Amino acid sequence: MLNVTTSRPTFSIEEKVIRGERLTQEESCSLFNVDLFTLGRWADFRRKVLHPEPIATFVVDRNLNYTNVCNTDCKFCAFYRHPTAPDAYVRSIEEVLNRIQELVEIDGTQVLLQGGHNSSLRLNYYTDLLKAIRTRFPQVHIHSFSPSEIDFIGRREGLTSLEVLKILKEAGLMSVPGGGAEILVDRVKNYMSPYKIQPSRWLGIMEEANSIGLHTTATMVYGAVESKEERIEHLMRIRELQDKTGGFKAFILWSYSFSNTPLFHLTEATGSEYLRMVAIARLVLDNVPNLQTGWLTESKRLAQVALSYGANDMGGILMEENVVSATGIKTPMMTKEEMIRLIRDTGKTPAQRNTRYEIVKIFHDKPRTHTPFAL
Ligand code: SF4
Repeated sequence: MLNVTTSRPTFSIEEKVIRGERLTQEESCSLFNVDLFTLGRWADFRRKVLHPEPIATFVVDRNLNYTNVCNTDCKFCAFYRHPTAPDAYVRSIEEVLNRIQELVEIDGTQVLLQGGHNSSLRLNYYTDLLKAIRTRFPQVHIHSFSPSEIDFIGRREGLTSLEVLKILKEAGLMSVPGGGAEILVDRVKNYMSPYKIQPSRWLGIMEEANSIGLHTTATMVYGAVESKEERIEHLMRIRELQDKTGGFKAFILWSYSFSNTPLFHLTEATGSEYLRMVAIARLVLDNVPNLQTGWLTESKRLAQVALSYGANDMGGILMEENVVSATGIKTPMMTKEEMIRLIRDTGKTPAQRNTRYEIVKIFHDKPRTHTPFAL
């Protein structure tokens, strides 16, 4: 009998990018050796396949920290306070509602509630808060409580994380943000935040959220003690879960700032490194539809450039931010008008979206007034 062996042709990484073929873990690691412009060109090519229209999106949102009290002592965190600190706080429901009123006044559509692990708060604080927001602002999407907060509430109340998610969803929670992932590798997590949930738990809670119809986002914070291979391992774990659930609407990455933290001696990542990571994320996460820039941590100007390195979304205007700014980052806050101008200046058309990444308004260019000039 004739033995016929068929072998798949092997393609270079560039050919695989053009063909839309999935990159292996080893190939993904080798992207760190590709020059930055080539990497950006490849990532922008994949972005165009996913988002052919020359549009960059943003959301009008507000981040609200309901408490800064936390018992988890993450080494990179400059935001939290222990319960007896003079500036420790818990926001009342009325305070939260007043701040959301300001969001609604500028046509905002999303609120992100995020806080420390505060043992004095019981389940009814979270459910009362959600119900109050739902009742008074039915038009606002509540995108809140990262997996570590869900885990904390469950341990505090003797409930499973799935039970907590179901209770919060019933009270008004609509989707779960991907905060607290940092780098989803045990070695890194054990150094950076040893008392916070392990990577497998973070992924497990996201899977549970997706299983009951709550969509999610995935994040990455890089530039501390992790290796390049561990950054790729993080992306692989996100990609693997996304294959299973399809629940991640977007991926968001930013680099650490270490001022005001016990890690102040570490060297922070550079702008080129950020663009490289954005491009690598676009190329590796072939199943996550949206990629956000991180203007708050990386600067507004670099965020504009990232729109040519694979990103298609500028994130939110935030209105208020306390976690990143506690580390000493002084990026001025963003207005909707500035966001529109920043996007327009990249040659793309700005579009306001909702939390589900559905476009709610496109800001077409204003007709230009013709200014005659003599040569
Ligand atoms: S990062 Fe979150 S969990 Fe960690 S110390 Fe800060 S507030 Fe607490």
